[in-house]
Amino acid sequence: MSENLTPLVGMDLPELTALVTAAGQPPFRAKQLHHWLYRLGTREFSEMTNLAKVFREWLEGHCVTGLPRVVDRRESAEDETVKLLLELSDGELVESVLMRERDWWTVCVSSQVGCALGCTFCTTGAGGFRRDLTCGEIVGQVIEARRLVPDGEFLRNIVFMGMGEPLLNPTAVTGALRILTDPDGMAVASRRITLSTAGIVPELRRLSEKDLGINIAISLHGVCDEERNKIMPIGRRWPIAEILAACREFGLRPRRRITFEYVLLGGVNDSDAHARALGKLLRGMPCKINLIPYNPSKVLPYRRPSMDRVNRFQDILLHQNYTVCVRFSKGLDVDGACGQLAGRHRNGADS
Ligand code: SAH
Ligand code: SF4
Repeated sequence: MSENLTPLVGMDLPELTALVTAAGQPPFRAKQLHHWLYRLGTREFSEMTNLAKVFREWLEGHCVTGLPRVVDRRESAEDETVKLLLELSDGELVESVLMRERDWWTVCVSSQVGCALGCTFCTTGAGGFRRDLTCGEIVGQVIEARRLVPDGEFLRNIVFMGMGEPLLNPTAVTGALRILTDPDGMAVASRRITLSTAGIVPELRRLSEKDLGINIAISLHGVCDEERNKIMPIGRRWPIAEILAACREFGLRPRRRITFEYVLLGGVNDSDAHARALGKLLRGMPCKINLIPYNPSKVLPYRRPSMDRVNRFQDILLHQNYTVCVRFSKGLDVDGACGQLAGRHRNGADS
């Protein structure tokens, strides 16, 4: 039944205008609909009270808002992180994570159900790929997360660091970016959005050409191809040198820098020599480095390095004059931290 209904979240104003006009309604109805969907996140047409009743009935018969359904919500006891498990229209599940920073919030969204890239330290990768998300399903995660932000606080940042590789689903992701940053709609500032990629070089270049003004994070995690390819098989397709060349040529807005993420895997890529090699590799690049101590997973064979090791690694890079943050992921206790999103659990039980 619902397969024949058109999902509206994911449509921009011109698309909504075409739909509204086809339904015999005046174009201003599209603006009203746009407001209900994106400003207010209204799920039910019956609540869209300024739409003519006959139009609401038409919508009920032909469309759905298409927002994902929150089927589980786990709140961290440690840091106020909330992990949402969302069900899509075909029953697939994805996860989004909402994180608090002072009085603003960041939402981490998924771009695919699963991931095909199989990085050996990532739970999402271990589960394989199921399908791409639609533009509306990406936007829908932000709408559902925003609903949970307390009054007086606001959702400021969006990071594409959930399940999936955003640059392997570029059409839906760029469509979502346009909707999320539409000043008449969700109005998220593009400088508050960060897309993280394992390094899909041609798509990175295409993204640069689109000049969307968002920030880029590169999952580097290795200092030479031989070692990186062992933990990130996609490196065989696009080696480090090609990724770094695309980064150097990326059309950054003034005063922006690319972020390089480096997961610290105990005994694998966390030695002093690795830190020095990382500094050497990134020399001359306008960048920030985020060190992410590995978030453990029961199914993966790695360990988190000691705090001393993490500090030492950071110090070596600081001495080379890099901006280096250590990102202790939030939401560890709810499996909501980087690399812990599996999307297969419902009410805590394996399905
Ligand atoms: N596919 C994209 C975005 C999602 S992953 C990418 O790989 O960039 C977001 C970040 O979490 C990436 O930097 C990823 O390498 C990192 N990550 C994956 N598994 C992790 C783990 N177990 N511990 C810490 N970080 C992890
Ligand atoms: Fe996919 Fe990113 Fe996980 Fe690698 S780290 S498997 S690219 S989600």
